[in-house]
Amino acid sequence: MNQISTKDMYQAMGISEQVCRFGEQIEAELKERFSAIDEVAEYNQLKVIRAMQDNRVSAECFAISNGYGYNDLGRDTLEKVYASCFHGEDALVRPQITCGTHALALALMSNLRPGDELLSPVGKPYDTLEEVIGIRPSKGSLAEYGIMYRQVDLLPDGSFDYENIRKAVGERTKLVTIQRSKGYQTRPSLSVEKIGELIAFIKSIKPEVICMVDNCYGEFVETQEPLDVGADMIVGSLIKNPGGGLAPIGGYIVGKKECVENAAFRLTSPGLGKEVGASLNVISSFYQGLFQAPVVTASALKGAIFAANIYERLGFPVIPNATESRHDIIQAVTLNSPEALIAFCRGIQAAAPVDSYVTPEPWAMPGYDSDVIMAAGAFVQGSSIELSADGPLKPPYAVYFQGGLTWYHAKLGILMSLEKLNEQKLVNNSLMC
Ligand SMILES: *Cc1c(COP(=O)(O)O)cnc(C)c1O
Repeated sequence: MNQISTKDMYQAMGISEQVCRFGEQIEAELKERFSAIDEVAEYNQLKVIRAMQDNRVSAECFAISNGYGYNDLGRDTLEKVYASCFHGEDALVRPQITCGTHALALALMSNLRPGDELLSPVGKPYDTLEEVIGIRPSKGSLAEYGIMYRQVDLLPDGSFDYENIRKAVGERTKLVTIQRSKGYQTRPSLSVEKIGELIAFIKSIKPEVICMVDNCYGEFVETQEPLDVGADMIVGSLIKNPGGGLAPIGGYIVGKKECVENAAFRLTSPGLGKEVGASLNVISSFYQGLFQAPVVTASALKGAIFAANIYERLGFPVIPNATESRHDIIQAVTLNSPEALIAFCRGIQAAAPVDSYVTPEPWAMPGYDSDVIMAAGAFVQGSSIELSADGPLKPPYAVYFQGGLTWYHAKLGILMSLEKLNEQKLVNNSLMC
């Protein structure tokens, strides 16, 4: 047999021997960290299987439903599985929830009433929520419905500003929103333990306040989830971690029965709630995606840590850094020049299973004050559990990247990004040895 070696395969796909060797060396140093990630994945895999067993998932659950979707066994059972898995009383998991922003908007709009106040004790929320809340005026925002908003920023060292949080929790405070992932900000992401401390503090001031966690990008990164540490409701997107790359659409809300019920009455209609909403032909991908999610999340995490180590060694600032513990799957690398940012994204694109022949170009996007470049060769449009990267073409030329359905794909993508930088002499390649 004259089968070529793995190394030859990398070279045949455009990765030079030098980059390949550097990658191997970095990977070898990460054995312990990777094995810790595998341990988390193992625990979470058992958690998911157990939830499926406890709720008697059967082949009938994968039947396609249509119309009103009354008695949709697959949908109803999946919601029980999510509730069991994340330790909530109830869950709403639907293809009619179009994305993460929609799930968050739904959770907020259904649990708040005119005159109530929403508080974010962890600083500015994710960009798209600014319009939901009305921080940036928008049609249909919470502000238009007379719901007020307050924010307490994190302290400069990233810790909670307990003193000002205490002052901000008042008579009208009905719901507190806590974003687990930093998203595209520079603050640290929050561990589940930290979230628990914050919730305990808030509940000590006002026990009846609803604590909601924006769980996007955080699912299955740790063995605990926010409902384990006192949150009332967690909210997320199925085209991120919990969809396992297989869910083609959808969002979830899991938590207290009353919170979920409120959301269901808002998603469909008062009186109808969870009873309607056919799951069409996507339900089996929701099950299979959740089943895969712990391992997929582990792959994405390995990719993020691999990249942090590669680029930190080459002198680029990385957030989180090479050794920090991880609480979400996002990695930022400051590339210092537009050429390097473009080269990085072109490498990620060139390594994709889909649209690998496309060359990403920076372009103007609504909501951004500079051109933006994006790389994604995904099976599901916009899916950010799949390997993807983007960044605004302005100093410090930071790229944000995340995902990787398999570790091997994440690795190829990162090596290809480095290859593109190296080809253009944008890295100090004497450091690559
Ligand atoms: C992705 C994300 C959202 C919004 O989800 P979309 O699916 O993009 O609408 C909200 N919050 C955080 C922290 C996210 O990462």
